[in-house]
Amino acid sequence: MIQCSVRFLICCLILHFICIQCGSVSAQDIDDDKFEIVAHRIRLQLYPLANAISCIDTLSIKKRSKDAEHITLKFLPAYKIERITSKGNDIDYKHEKDYLHLDDIPSDSLFDIVITYSGNLAFRSEFNLLTKDRAVLREEGILPYGRRTLQFVRISLVVPKDWETIVPGRLIRHDSFNDSTLFVWECGEPIPMIGWICAGKFWTLKDDDGGIPITVHVFEEDSSQARKILSLAKDALTYYSENFSPYRFPKLSVVEVEDWVGGPSVLAIAAPSFVMVKKLVFTTADTYNQLEAILPHEVAHQWWPLTAFIEDEDAAFLAEGMCEYSALLFNESRGTKTARDSLGHHPLLRSLLARVSKGKDLPLQQKADLRSLPTHYLKSCYVHNMLRNIVGDSVFFQLYREYARRFAAKRVSMDDFQHLAENLSERELDWFFNQWVKRKGVPRLKIYNVKSTQVGAQWKTHGRVRMVGYDKYTTFIDIGVELPSHAEALGEGVPSGHVTTRVKLGIDSAGTYHNDVPFEILSDEKPVRAILDPDGDVLKIQKLPVKLGDLRDPADGLMIVGTLHNSEYLLDLARKHSEQMERSGWSIEIKADTNITLGDLQTERVLLYGKPTENGVVEDLQGRFPLRFHRDSLVIHNETIFDSTLTLMQAIENPFIPQGIMCWIAPLSRKAEPDLLPYNHSWVLVRGKDEIASGSWEVRDEDLVVEIR
Ligand SMILES: [Zn+2]
Repeated sequence: MIQCSVRFLICCLILHFICIQCGSVSAQDIDDDKFEIVAHRIRLQLYPLANAISCIDTLSIKKRSKDAEHITLKFLPAYKIERITSKGNDIDYKHEKDYLHLDDIPSDSLFDIVITYSGNLAFRSEFNLLTKDRAVLREEGILPYGRRTLQFVRISLVVPKDWETIVPGRLIRHDSFNDSTLFVWECGEPIPMIGWICAGKFWTLKDDDGGIPITVHVFEEDSSQARKILSLAKDALTYYSENFSPYRFPKLSVVEVEDWVGGPSVLAIAAPSFVMVKKLVFTTADTYNQLEAILPHEVAHQWWPLTAFIEDEDAAFLAEGMCEYSALLFNESRGTKTARDSLGHHPLLRSLLARVSKGKDLPLQQKADLRSLPTHYLKSCYVHNMLRNIVGDSVFFQLYREYARRFAAKRVSMDDFQHLAENLSERELDWFFNQWVKRKGVPRLKIYNVKSTQVGAQWKTHGRVRMVGYDKYTTFIDIGVELPSHAEALGEGVPSGHVTTRVKLGIDSAGTYHNDVPFEILSDEKPVRAILDPDGDVLKIQKLPVKLGDLRDPADGLMIVGTLHNSEYLLDLARKHSEQMERSGWSIEIKADTNITLGDLQTERVLLYGKPTENGVVEDLQGRFPLRFHRDSLVIHNETIFDSTLTLMQAIENPFIPQGIMCWIAPLSRKAEPDLLPYNHSWVLVRGKDEIASGSWEVRDEDLVVEIR
């Protein structure tokens, strides 16, 4: 098998209900305030060879308004309905496009209807597929649906004999017939949706040591990873059970799925009592997207929002950001923080701030397809961290625990979360949630007028901090001074130490706005420099070095390919990279270096291919890049590099457009076969996908760091 090359993937770990708005159908445009589906009893048979299903679905529907005489469900037109009955009587219905209109429904406030239907899964989407070996079916792709809070679900699934099935709940029956197997699953715990139904041939590993049963289903070729998945899932489940609320489902399954599921920017999907992880997660060389970075987030979805049910507009804060932060807490507890966990050095931070600077950011609270907003995951995670800094660790952990307990199996709103945070911390936090969750934007802060004077045996450093710009924000922020003894101790791996003080800008308790405040710090030595927010606790505008990893955030791109020498080789390389990037949401144009205008160079993302002797545009622009060629050879750190299998890649700010990025991919010879990966560096020297050397540009941010003379 050819291993697929690693693509530019964003971190997106989307939850199925977000897809409700991005899929072909939406539950939002039907009268879903009139009724609610409270139970499904499904008998579903899969016919993989015919690519077909047949189904009898008994829905229990609760009326939310007494006078409802007819209701409308969503239901794909691909299915042929045989009949719809209630208490044995036929019900009139109309199945038009995506809608199923039911007339003359029973007058009871709670009633059952039975829908018998069948159809081919001839349509291919990002959400449903039935093949001869496997099925991945999304609830909205195969069942009638509307607003739901499911108190009970039974799924009887008939599949080919050697298949397994993974759905929400507990397996209560398992019978084999001639060439098929019946699985009966029941979920008695309330769930906000069924989500997905998975079935197929898998290599399976079970954990049976008496706790919550955990099962891992992977493809045969990935079986060597099953034990690692199981142990990580188990550790995360244990941590969350102890710190949030006891896990409330009868099992947890982790299922491998193919890479098409959910579209290219999705890596994993959570559903009640199981998690689907894409094959790519097992094969990628990008540590940011590997299992260790993904699975703890997905397991946390069993609480947020599969225990505390939320509204769609709160998904960024109460689901994705909360799961990111839960994974961070889990890794913090084990001492295994990954690149995803470091907020101040997060690979998406520059992309997030660039989005803000361009005015293209959105408030966290609003309905959005989060698959196209990877920076929302980071922003939301940052906001949870800032809340923790304000209320303190013990209140913060109490908040997650109490939220899970009080709102278990209930619909909860952002206001509920805020009020709970306010009650537990005994603070008014309206300003915090308005500024960070309901509004868009990120503050810009500046430290200035800094002076140190000797006072007796000590040094007094004073200065001011102000909010830059017209937008009003309120925040606590630390100011630190670095002492010569700290600076000396700053060897590799030694954390920086500071003497710090904390100030508050913005609205005070009397309602007056202060956008400029003084500070004062006493120290035993004369400080070397003063730093605003030395630990990166506050999300704020800052200068960060451009990195190749900034290419995680998909955009429009122009590849400029050299034609002076090796033009075919360079074109093939550019085509290979552009195919990989387009699969994850990029739109790429490839042009020859002979006909490039200023307008071309003003594209937000420009990628140059070839050495100066191969590419005329590179010949003109190479002076803009810190690392250069001398004729055909490369000199890095005074060393001339001859190895023909290497490629140098660099990323800088595009000099022709603000917030743009310019990358230069320079293979040392035609023997080089570089993969363009989102490296967390400004430049790399690679052989294939292996890093040989790398580094990042030094950036001075005068708004945040002041040298003391
Ligand atoms: Zn997620």
